[in-house]
Amino acid sequence: MSTTQEHTADATEDRTLTADVVVVGAGLAGLVAAATAARDGAHVVLLDARSAGGRARSATRDGFVLNEGGHALYRDAGGLAVLRELGVEVAGDAPPLRSYRTVWDGAIAPLPVTPSAILSSRLLGARSKAKLVGWYADIGRTAARAGDVALDEWLDDQGARPDLRRFVAALGRLVTYSARPERLPAAAVLGQLGAGGVLYVHGGWQSLVDQLLTVAQAHGVVVHEHAPVVSLERDGTRWISTTARGRTVTATTVVLAAGGPHLAASLLGVDDAGWIERAGPVQRASCLDVGGARGTCDFLLSAAEPLYLSLHAPVARLAPPGEALYSLMRYLDAGDDGSSGEHRRSLEAHAARAGLPSEAERSLHRFLAAPVVAWGSPQVGVERPTGLELADRGVLAAGDWIGRPLLADAAIVSGSVAGVTAARRAMVAA
Ligand SMILES: Cc1cc2nc3c(=O)[nH]c(=O)nc-3n(C[C@H](O)[C@H](O)[C@H](O)COP(=O)(O)OP(=O)(O)OC[C@H]3O[C@@H](n4cnc5c(N)ncnc54)[C@H](O)[C@@H]3O)c2cc1C
Repeated sequence: MSTTQEHTADATEDRTLTADVVVVGAGLAGLVAAATAARDGAHVVLLDARSAGGRARSATRDGFVLNEGGHALYRDAGGLAVLRELGVEVAGDAPPLRSYRTVWDGAIAPLPVTPSAILSSRLLGARSKAKLVGWYADIGRTAARAGDVALDEWLDDQGARPDLRRFVAALGRLVTYSARPERLPAAAVLGQLGAGGVLYVHGGWQSLVDQLLTVAQAHGVVVHEHAPVVSLERDGTRWISTTARGRTVTATTVVLAAGGPHLAASLLGVDDAGWIERAGPVQRASCLDVGGARGTCDFLLSAAEPLYLSLHAPVARLAPPGEALYSLMRYLDAGDDGSSGEHRRSLEAHAARAGLPSEAERSLHRFLAAPVVAWGSPQVGVERPTGLELADRGVLAAGDWIGRPLLADAAIVSGSVAGVTAARRAMVAA
């Protein structure tokens, strides 16, 4: 990949660049923004503090491909369509719904996620089943009608019984990665339940990153990796971005896609758009990856605790032949930094319940204490940032704290919106 690395940048290279658009951050949001703006005719420079990919990078270890914690791409939440439209081939497979299990009252039982499985399930009473099937019959409309209330309040209004509440909370954690989906807007949780299920991506999410980088460069994007932007200054109608090694990029539009709202606001020196407050609580998770022999359960969601386990390989091609790769996750409460050894122990207990090999018998073992899953989460009564609040000043923002979808879909869709908007600004300025 022919990107320039700032730490090896040579004296002969032009250290003062001019462009229509500078994109700060080359995670999914920044890569999509840069590729889109360049495809639509803008001259774009893309800068990243590290190598491109951000949290969508994958590492290769002992023949296993490890995403940054288990990653699943929603089929109908907006991101996949944007990637395909840019020419990215998303190859992967869906985890088989029939293998879904739950820990319910201490025992392992099938987790019903299709209407026929719900009707034959022993977990729910007849009234709860009827309600659930009714919601699922047109989940899009159910979500649209939910109004701006918390899931808890919506379940009250629906007269949901304790069995149904417990079931919806467990599924809510699974689809939103929030430890407390009951507090999220009902529409956001229901919308995510209707997002068409997920794909585990062959070769890991790095395959998406690599393709996006290729597409961006094919459209003429100039990429500088290992080039952290340390300051952003306004000069009339232009913005000057300066990297740690003193390279400057002058552009009429800057897309801030460096992660969360805190970084965007600190680069601007002000949070005029109220991004930090409007983005909502940061979501983190403790993650455990286990490689080796196949366990007794391929998918196990706890109803009582915020715990998830799923077989990612061989569903997706992420493991050497004959080996299985499981991703486990504990969704953390806001403010929990994952430092308690308790989370790790609860993940190990969950692994043991699913018959996974013990730590000594594993071909692969990796624990991540508390990576940031999303730099925001929707809040009742608060409009999420659009990323376009400061567009008249030439500042756009993209990331997983912006817009209607959640998680990576938010990053990809907001990246696309920023890219289209940045290209339009470039055309007007020309
Ligand atoms: C454990 C885990 C599990 C997840 N699971 C899922 C899932 O199943 N489904 C899903 O949809 N999403 C999932 N996500 C979320 C998904 O990975 C993110 O939403 C998405 O990758 C965010 O992309 P981004 O571009 O907004 O941010 P990032 O990926 O964080 O990219 C920001 C980039 O900006 C760069 N940067 C930072 N500071 C600077 C600077 N000063 N100058 C230049 N560059 C800078 C960084 O190096 C980075 O490359 C998960 C995340 C985690 C951590």
